[in-house]
Amino acid sequence: MSSPDSYWLATGPAWTRPAAALPARAGVCVLGAGVMGATLAYWLTRAGHRPLVIERNTAPAMGSSGRNAGRLIQGGNAQHALAVEKYGHAEALAIYRATLTNRDLVREVAAREGIAATRFPTAKLDLAVEEDEALELKRTAEALRADGIPAEWLDLPGSRAAFGTDLPDTVLGGLYRPDQDSVHSVGYVRGMAEAAARGGAEFACGVTVASVAPAAGGGWLVATDAGQVHAEQVVVALNVWTPHLLPELAEVITPVRGQLVQTAPVDFRIPQWGLDRGLLYGGQTPDGSLLIGGLRNTVPGRDEGIEVPAGSNTPAFAPDLADRLAMALPALLPEAAGVPVVRAWSGVMAFTPDRCPLVGAWPGTEGLWVLAAFNGHGMPYSQVMPEQLAERILGGRGAGIPAAFDPARFH
Ligand SMILES: Cc1cc2nc3c(=O)[nH]c(=O)nc-3n(C[C@H](O)[C@H](O)[C@H](O)COP(=O)(O)OP(=O)(O)OC[C@H]3O[C@@H](n4cnc5c(N)ncnc54)[C@H](O)[C@@H]3O)c2cc1C
Repeated sequence: MSSPDSYWLATGPAWTRPAAALPARAGVCVLGAGVMGATLAYWLTRAGHRPLVIERNTAPAMGSSGRNAGRLIQGGNAQHALAVEKYGHAEALAIYRATLTNRDLVREVAAREGIAATRFPTAKLDLAVEEDEALELKRTAEALRADGIPAEWLDLPGSRAAFGTDLPDTVLGGLYRPDQDSVHSVGYVRGMAEAAARGGAEFACGVTVASVAPAAGGGWLVATDAGQVHAEQVVVALNVWTPHLLPELAEVITPVRGQLVQTAPVDFRIPQWGLDRGLLYGGQTPDGSLLIGGLRNTVPGRDEGIEVPAGSNTPAFAPDLADRLAMALPALLPEAAGVPVVRAWSGVMAFTPDRCPLVGAWPGTEGLWVLAAFNGHGMPYSQVMPEQLAERILGGRGAGIPAAFDPARFH
């Protein structure tokens, strides 16, 4: 079983805009047209600017943003009770609230820009089969409710009811959170890029950036395979490829392979789900196909530090892992037995040691910014971080960026 394209790339809208010629000068130059770069460009245009976006692929959303599971999971990488222990209550709540703001922004922007059909509502159910995880999830339900965020621990019958299907007896229960979203990843990201382009952003697709260096007299020189641009400000939104331009981050950003398999459509809908602290997870596409991903823990080295060939959007596809994922689905979801797996693909995630992204000024410089390394969890920040970073770039406070995301922490 192998397939080069994700469901989203195979079924998403084509990008038909001709690539912009590279100008000699630009105000803000955004490197990368994944969900982060495209959405940052959008927010810059909302503030009246005409950013230049440079993307190596021929269209936006061909990197990880077009190869993910499309789930906008609220909260940071750690369950809220653990995040409170790790960062303190105020910071953990700031991180969670950022993702709630993101949910509202996604809905508002999708409606305003005519891409509401790329978003669909769902819920999230984190299932536990071990007592210690069940305890973590119960504590998280309490911690969230104490912060006014709807969440509850459901026992096995309650989890089965929320799932709407059977679940094995080994499941102890689950943390249920309503009011979540999924998106058609490519439809959504290209929709954001289209909205940015309508607002005046230029997309130079098919252009690879080789380096960024300070220009004599101020600003930045962006060297590419199609010529050089002198930009007043530069934002590096290159996900796992960020260290190619900022080698200091080579020790900070670890490329991690993620894989997904997709079934044929089923006639029932289930919430987004996670099991074993998210090491196995799933979702559903708009047409009802089930997605299942994860199982990195069954691979030597957990697929961390994986090689991504130069110029490629993804590490090599691992057919054996895809087979294991396909087998895991009916073990959890008896209704999926006999439903054929029709597609599988790989992608790459950028992990940091503390599992927080890098959002903010590149330390010690003027006008160089980073928006990268979302630790397999970029979609729940995909409006709010670009929006807040755009505010900072244009001289505002961008106070919605949690201090835990400051790139200076690794400098
Ligand atoms: C299998 C899988 C499942 C996932 N599931 C989820 C999920 O359900 N929910 C979630 O929130 N997150 C998920 N993620 C993570 C999510 O996809 C990322 O957090 C998000 O896409 C990061 O967006 P980005 O814009 O930073 O990166 P990308 O989309 O990778 O964009 C970076 C862009 O930079 C371009 N680029 C690189 N180098 C250069 C260069 N030198 N010059 C010009 N352009 C360049 C690339 O071509 C690419 O388009 C998943 C990831 C994988 C792999």
